[in-house]
Amino acid sequence: MIEQTITLANGQHIAYLLEYRTRRTVGLKITQQGLVVHAPKRLMTHQLNQILLEKSAWISNKLALREVNAVDKVQWQHGEHLLLLGQDIELQLLETSAKSILRLDGQRLVLTVKDIDNTEAIAKRIIRWYQQQAYEDFARRVEIFSAKLGVPTPPIALSSAQSRWGSCNSRGQIRLNWRLIQAPPQIINHVVCHELAHLKEMNHSAKFYAVLTQLFPEHAIVEQALKRLSPQLHRL
Ligand SMILES: [Zn+2]
Repeated sequence: MIEQTITLANGQHIAYLLEYRTRRTVGLKITQQGLVVHAPKRLMTHQLNQILLEKSAWISNKLALREVNAVDKVQWQHGEHLLLLGQDIELQLLETSAKSILRLDGQRLVLTVKDIDNTEAIAKRIIRWYQQQAYEDFARRVEIFSAKLGVPTPPIALSSAQSRWGSCNSRGQIRLNWRLIQAPPQIINHVVCHELAHLKEMNHSAKFYAVLTQLFPEHAIVEQALKRLSPQLHRL
C-alpha cells in the first residue's frame, strides 16, 4: 500500500492508502486507518485524482461519521472535560447529603450530588442544564440576527437530532440542536443565520446564499469548522 494525500473538492486535505490491484474499477472503502483506495494497475494518477474529487462528498461524509464513532462519549466522571461556547470546562462532582446544586464557577462546572456513582442521574441533570443554557443563548442570537435580517423574531425550539444542527419549517419555526451550545459563538451564529435565511428563501438556491452571505459573510469557512467539530459535539 502506498500512502497518498489529496485535497477534496471542499478543500479538506486527507491522507489515504492506495493499493493497485487487478481490477477494472476504482474501489473506495473506509477502514480503521481511514480511506483505502483500490485502483486498477493501469490507471493514471490524474485519472484517479479526478475520480476521488468526484467522490469528495461521499469520502468526507464517511470520514466524519467514522470520527463520530471514534470519539468517546462523556463518562460523567469527576475531572472530566466538557465544552461550553467553545471553552474547555472541567466537571467537578462533589458528594453531599444536602440538596444537589449545579453551578458554573469560572472554568469549572460544579455539581453536588448524593451519589457520585449515579452517572445516569448526573448525565440527566447536566444535559438539562446544557439545554437551558442553549435555549437562552439561541433565543438571544435569533433575536439579534432576525433584527439584522429585517424579519420578525421567529419562535424557536430545541432539537436533539443526531445528524442535523438546525431546521426551519414552512410555518417559520426554527429548531436548533442544543448540542451547539458547546461550540464557539461563531459556529452558533452560523447555524442561526442559515436557518433565518430560510425565512426568506425556503431552499438552497443562489438567492438563498446571497441572503445568507449578506447576513453572515463567513458562513462557508465556519461551516467547515462545524464539520470538524461535529464529533466533539456528539460526545454529549
Ligand atoms: Zn438549509
